[in-house]
Amino acid sequence: MSADIAEPEPQRPPEWPATLDVDALVEGGWRPRPFQQFLLKVHSRCNLACDYCYVYTMADQSWRSRPMVMPMSLVAVAARRIAEHARAHGLTSVRIILHGGEPLLAGGRYLSEAVNAVRAVCAPDVRVEAAVQTNGVLLDEDVLRLFGELDLRVGVSLDGGRRDNDRHRRYADGRGSHDAVAGALRLLMSPAHRRLYGGLLCTIDLDNDPVETYEELLAFEPPVIGFLLPHGTWSSPPPGRTADRTRTPYADWLIQIFDRWYGAPRQETDVRLLREIIYLLLGRESASEAVGLTPSSLVVVETDGGIEQLDALKVVEQGAPATGMNIVDHSFDAVLRHPGIVARQLGRAALSETCQSCDLARVCGAGLYPHRYREGSGYLNPSVYCPDLYRLIQHIRTRLQLDLQRRRQG
Ligand code: SF4
Repeated sequence: MSADIAEPEPQRPPEWPATLDVDALVEGGWRPRPFQQFLLKVHSRCNLACDYCYVYTMADQSWRSRPMVMPMSLVAVAARRIAEHARAHGLTSVRIILHGGEPLLAGGRYLSEAVNAVRAVCAPDVRVEAAVQTNGVLLDEDVLRLFGELDLRVGVSLDGGRRDNDRHRRYADGRGSHDAVAGALRLLMSPAHRRLYGGLLCTIDLDNDPVETYEELLAFEPPVIGFLLPHGTWSSPPPGRTADRTRTPYADWLIQIFDRWYGAPRQETDVRLLREIIYLLLGRESASEAVGLTPSSLVVVETDGGIEQLDALKVVEQGAPATGMNIVDHSFDAVLRHPGIVARQLGRAALSETCQSCDLARVCGAGLYPHRYREGSGYLNPSVYCPDLYRLIQHIRTRLQLDLQRRRQG
């Protein structure tokens, strides 16, 4: 025998939710919620090289083996699958989100064809709302005019002022992207295009001053700001999140924004995460997966037609977002029974024992699903952001209680 034969890798025992018995759940009366949001990865490369990007810099490197652009023939298959799914579940509207990489690299004509392809097969009974999430550097008058014809909502990523944004959001040659994005946002803010403005997405950097960041973003008059916690897990914690539960750097950061936003004499914009927490505290459901127990209705289609769970799972390990299914051979109904999809629809039943006994579980919901991962136990854990989420929610609850008390006292 040759001495250089490698030892076989020891088999890792399956982690939750791979061990979920979906058939038993269905027999017990549980029913999946149909997908209503389809995130289409139309272009897998980017014209920026942001150093924290979950597509290129994290554990899953599947972008390397994927086609650069989703062929239009696959877009047509995706369109038919979306229409089939919507009709099977009696949905009267669905949402497609053109995503990447950087979707604008696919070109305006391609994006227009893609949106029209989905709308054509869904009409007349299923309405298709369309949105694009872009880094903004390729947005110009021509593109915006085209998006206007398509009624395509535009979300733009920006992390604050020039110095703060350009610490991470750079071109491959090191130049910052802020000035190009600011120019694009000024076009988007103009009366001709304003109705297309979907909002800003900002990834939190603890090195940036929170109120300054908020006010820099506010200067671009966004209808909504989405603050994103950097992706991380218990096995690969996000920057600044240590094992010391008494430290809550992300809560401290967001609380400063909450106080500035909530305390403003008039509402200057919507801050999605904070508004969601307020709604949940008032007994409503959440509309995002970042907090709350609302079943997820989002699914991802990659440029090769692969159907994936959630692209933030790229932080976990190679292949973590995959379902092993694709739009050519599988319907979206088949994907609804994948344990990873089921886990994001199970609400309280998908929470760890710690979260089940937490007084804020209904509001927190253990945070975003990928942030619960720990090697060995899978996703049956509190969020790696648990101390931050607890403190942030507590702060907002106290502030709301005080307000309600004041109102009751006249
Ligand atoms: S605050 Fe922590 S323990 Fe409570 S639900 Fe959230 S992650 Fe779970």
